Amino acid sequence: MTVLETPVGRFAPTPSGPLHFGSVVAAVASYLDVRAAGGRWLVRIDDVDRPRAQAGAGEAILASLARLGFEWDAPPVWQHQRDAAYVAALKRLMADGWVYGCACTRKMLADAPRAADGATLYPGTCRNGVPAGLAARAWRFRVPAGLTAFDDRVHGRIVEDVSQAAGDFVLHRADGLFAYQLAVVVDDAAAGVTDVVRGIDLMPSTARQICIARALGVAVPRYAHVPVVVDAGGQKLSKQSLARAIDAFPPALLIYDALVCLGQQPPAELADAPLPAVWDWALAHWSMARVPRQGEVRSRRIYDR
Ligand code: GLU
Repeated sequence: MTVLETPVGRFAPTPSGPLHFGSVVAAVASYLDVRAAGGRWLVRIDDVDRPRAQAGAGEAILASLARLGFEWDAPPVWQHQRDAAYVAALKRLMADGWVYGCACTRKMLADAPRAADGATLYPGTCRNGVPAGLAARAWRFRVPAGLTAFDDRVHGRIVEDVSQAAGDFVLHRADGLFAYQLAVVVDDAAAGVTDVVRGIDLMPSTARQICIARALGVAVPRYAHVPVVVDAGGQKLSKQSLARAIDAFPPALLIYDALVCLGQQPPAELADAPLPAVWDWALAHWSMARVPRQGEVRSRRIYDR
């Protein structure tokens, strides 16, 4: 007997500002992907990085999602309430030798080589123990040698040598906060997420997250990375680029435009349809195969700053 797994997807915005059109595109992709397959959809507010979170932004994002007609199947999870789970995961990784304490300060790493994303490529100073007289400030993941591969549902086979691309990266920071990479893996596993559908800007994190999941012995989800939305000048729509908050736009138009960005080719007359009709069409016609493989899609001018 084949037991078909019910897919579980999620949208996990960082509450550093209001929901913008680029995030709506990622949310629509994740939502349609699992809903069209009869699966469950969850929302998580990724506020593990407390200083980046803006007061009230998580609540505002949830209100915007509700206005757009998204329905989630469980109360949203907030990462700031999940420290106990992250501590437990870190302890497990420590017990199994996957993490080590690191005494290096930013200053000590000033001359270290840089990874492709500009972050410090850790030279391994504390890999075999903290130098005498120094104390551990952060905890790093001991990245295994060799290649990590996954089959992205949009981009096909992706292969990365995490030891070269990122080096031993931090899981627990010197300021006491847990790193995004650990929190995401722990939370997705706890929620039983089978399908991560998110913006391609997060692609560089995926192999790292797979390494953590394997070290923890939890299931590795499937991944699909969808294009990020850029403005007329080619800038990614983001909170930093001051993309307009989406609440000023009619929900049906936003979902329609997101479908266009996702290559779904909605019929022109749907642009004037009420919101439930747009969702009905989207659910009936969703196709991951139509999602553009290019990294960027241009939005209509109205969502720019
Ligand atoms: N919170 C992350 C962000 O907004 C996304 C996390 C994820 O989808 O894995 O960039």
